[in-house]
Amino acid sequence: MLKLTNTLTGALEPFTPADGVTVRMYTCGPTVHDFAHIGNFRTYVFEDVLRRHFKSKWNLSHVMNITDIDDKIMRKAAERKIDIREYTAPFTAAFFEDSARLRIEKPDVITAATDYIPEMIALVERLLANGHAYREGNSIYFRISSFPSYGRLSRLDRRELKVGARIDADEYEKEQPNDFVLWKGPKDDTEPRWEAPFGTGRPGWHLECSAMAMKQLGETLDIHWGGVDNILPQHENEIAQSEAATSKPFARLWVHGEHLLIEGEKMAKSKGNFFTLRDLLEKGYSAQAIRYLLLSVQYRKQLNFTMSGLEQAQHSLDRIREFLFRLQTARLQEGTTPELTQLVSTARTKFEAGLDDDLNTPQALGAVFDLIRACNIALDREQVREGDRAAILAWFAEVDSRLAIIPATEEVLARDDEIDALVERRNAARRNRDFAEADRVRNELFDRGIVIEDTREGTKWRRK
Ligand SMILES: [Zn+2]
Repeated sequence: MLKLTNTLTGALEPFTPADGVTVRMYTCGPTVHDFAHIGNFRTYVFEDVLRRHFKSKWNLSHVMNITDIDDKIMRKAAERKIDIREYTAPFTAAFFEDSARLRIEKPDVITAATDYIPEMIALVERLLANGHAYREGNSIYFRISSFPSYGRLSRLDRRELKVGARIDADEYEKEQPNDFVLWKGPKDDTEPRWEAPFGTGRPGWHLECSAMAMKQLGETLDIHWGGVDNILPQHENEIAQSEAATSKPFARLWVHGEHLLIEGEKMAKSKGNFFTLRDLLEKGYSAQAIRYLLLSVQYRKQLNFTMSGLEQAQHSLDRIREFLFRLQTARLQEGTTPELTQLVSTARTKFEAGLDDDLNTPQALGAVFDLIRACNIALDREQVREGDRAAILAWFAEVDSRLAIIPATEEVLARDDEIDALVERRNAARRNRDFAEADRVRNELFDRGIVIEDTREGTKWRRK
């Protein structure tokens, strides 16, 4: 049974969708003022592993917003004298390109805040009508003193609440639990604005999450996910503005992923350790290794993201690729063996139990390497049969459908006529006992990133 840690209660809780059939999941998407950084992608990679795990058990309806109205976006668009959508379009496109490189599946519904203005206006009207919102100047604020459980998610000491104090900024610190703005009157002529019955303005930050989630998924979601840095104010405010309107719990389960550190330090542009996916790809690391490293530590633990960690991740992927190459090219006898059937079954059980245990990805990866180790021994002893190979490959396909880290068969078995010719020239030199020439060709192949192995079935080559 799947268990996940609920931030609301702090406890590890069994999870099933409310209707037993479809998981209704909401993710706070990117604020598209810039390229997403690698810390953002840690959260999205974990959401992706969770969505894939959900899909192995139930149907899934997954909604994500794109925050395209926010102080930073408005400021940057104004600096460039362009419309906010013109400013955000390339960053939104880049986010989905980067996500695709990391094999992050797309949520079923993705919508921009600017597509949900009528729904947000309706939500503000509801909150004005029931007394949870009030007007001050030409803006509308949420009255946190009217919502007794404000701060429950973040374990905020209610004595810290600044009753009657107001905050206009989209992002603010934990030290300022003030009444937050739901609808902002324009500060100057350049700000984008929309007409509403309660005055011209623009929505407050993440009002769209409540409006969009409730419209697409119903008033109580099964699960809402995000990074720990989203808990306050973003998620507290989402809970307050949703539950004050509906009097129902906004989400049954809140899940939060931990931060990552870069080489042991907090990532910051000022420290020069701030990386987007593009920065790391330019340094020559593969998206596959980056994904592997991001999911190699359980989501609730802090991950220390290092360049040597990326190299180790690449090494782990190479081990998987080497094993699959060996397995797929081995000459095997017909049939199956009970020992191998048992090995696959043990690995599968350990893998599923790991993911069910609060998405323990290190345990799931451990199951993959246990199987590789045992199968390599079985291959040495010629104990693996055709049927076993099929069962192992089928299980690796299942692992890939969950973790998306297994190299594709075409990649494992990649052929190349030019390389084949070089391998043949090297073998011919060996047959002629011209070992100097054989070594020279082998080194040339190595420089091209090709490793060759002499096996009982002849010489095999693979990419490093
Ligand atoms: Zn949100």
